[in-house]
Amino acid sequence: MSELCNAHTHLELSDLGRVCPQEPTSFARWMAGFIWSLRKRKLDDYRAAVMLGIETLRACGTTHVHDITNTWASVEPLLQSGMQGCVYLEVMGQKRERALVRMKEAVRRITDLRRSHAESPMSVGLSLHSTWSCHPDLLREGAAWCRENKVPLCIHAAESPAETELLLTGRVRELGWARTQIGRSLRMLPRSGPRLSPITYLASLGVLQARPLLVHAVQVSDEEIAAIARARCTVVHCPRSNTLLSCGRMRLEAFLSAGIPVYLGTDSRVSSPDLDVRAEAAAAKKMHAGRVDGEKINAMLAPPNPET
Ligand SMILES: [Zn+2]
Repeated sequence: MSELCNAHTHLELSDLGRVCPQEPTSFARWMAGFIWSLRKRKLDDYRAAVMLGIETLRACGTTHVHDITNTWASVEPLLQSGMQGCVYLEVMGQKRERALVRMKEAVRRITDLRRSHAESPMSVGLSLHSTWSCHPDLLREGAAWCRENKVPLCIHAAESPAETELLLTGRVRELGWARTQIGRSLRMLPRSGPRLSPITYLASLGVLQARPLLVHAVQVSDEEIAAIARARCTVVHCPRSNTLLSCGRMRLEAFLSAGIPVYLGTDSRVSSPDLDVRAEAAAAKKMHAGRVDGEKINAMLAPPNPET
């Protein structure tokens, strides 16, 4: 295959393979360990990890990547790498004012970069981290800006059962344990959920209208799959990360039957054994054996088509 796309990475975490669980664990336990691993991290560590990540992708024959950068450290290296795809500057936060200020900074930076790198094979977009880590106004306003300005948007959504529980009930039983481990870091979680499941919540905020690249989409109902299809969103499937974080099996066959474009991503080294998206395809074939044809899974290694 001449084109090979890893449709979901966080290259700035490429040196943190030690955090990746060897065996399936709970999402909340994993998140607690991950946040703890970042406590002494400096910007230079993120930068070095990005370079390691780009080198690793190249060694796997990857030509296209869709990377999320929370520190924005991967933006320049990816724009200069000659690789194709999209780099998404990430914004998150449950504190409304602070989150919207950060979004304004991202909007300025993304606008400048899209102007100065208009001819680059690497596009620049916005990532709103997830349904549970962003204030509703951040989700609403960020998506509206992307829609109005035709800027690519990416969001983690419907990943773990804990995310759905948090949005539906305002609490996660497992987080009682996690909060005591990492205290302050998880205080950003909302005290009362929107009482909606993740995709329905995004639809209620108008986020689906921006046609985000939806990462994971494991915890979905038939109605939510229909809503994703109607909105003409694209989905990224990360089967190895979903297995290691006990998120369950994405109903890939239902997405493909609904005509939704689905691509494969490794996610970061924090929840994936490596950055080789061909290994992700092999895992997907095992996970969906008897339900999805291997050729259809091979086709998910192609780069997303922005025109579809
Ligand atoms: Zn991710």
